[in-house]
Amino acid sequence: MLNADQVSHIISLLKPQVSKEEIEQVEIMLSTPVVSGDVQSMAFYHADVIKDVLTERVRQHNKFGYQNRPPFEWFLILSEEVGEVAKECVEMQFNDASHPHSNPAAYRKELVEVAAVALAALQNFDMRASSHAKPIGL
Ligand SMILES: [Mg+2]
Repeated sequence: MLNADQVSHIISLLKPQVSKEEIEQVEIMLSTPVVSGDVQSMAFYHADVIKDVLTERVRQHNKFGYQNRPPFEWFLILSEEVGEVAKECVEMQFNDASHPHSNPAAYRKELVEVAAVALAALQNFDMRASSHAKPIGL
């Protein structure tokens, strides 16, 4: 998916005399993922990851309930999850792919858990900082 600026640029290039360099420029744009900085583009290109993180966030909420914690407690929880990412990195780095402890899927799963905990900590921090402090569910 191209953003409006890229589409305009491509259209501007569609003229009778198109140079080889301009054609190459369009080819590069069409083959390169767009990360333009706008939220819609980012959401589109990261939809699968965002879905995984939100699914994990719901799983954590269903397991632990609403968590209203001070920052240092969130830091400990997040650090525990980051430690699990580190463990999976070590397993992948120092064991070959056929080793039973080498598990790229487990590494990815732990990264999703880190992101979900960070989301919960951020939401809770904002809620606690708000003068209208009250639980907002997830
Ligand atoms: Mg974990």
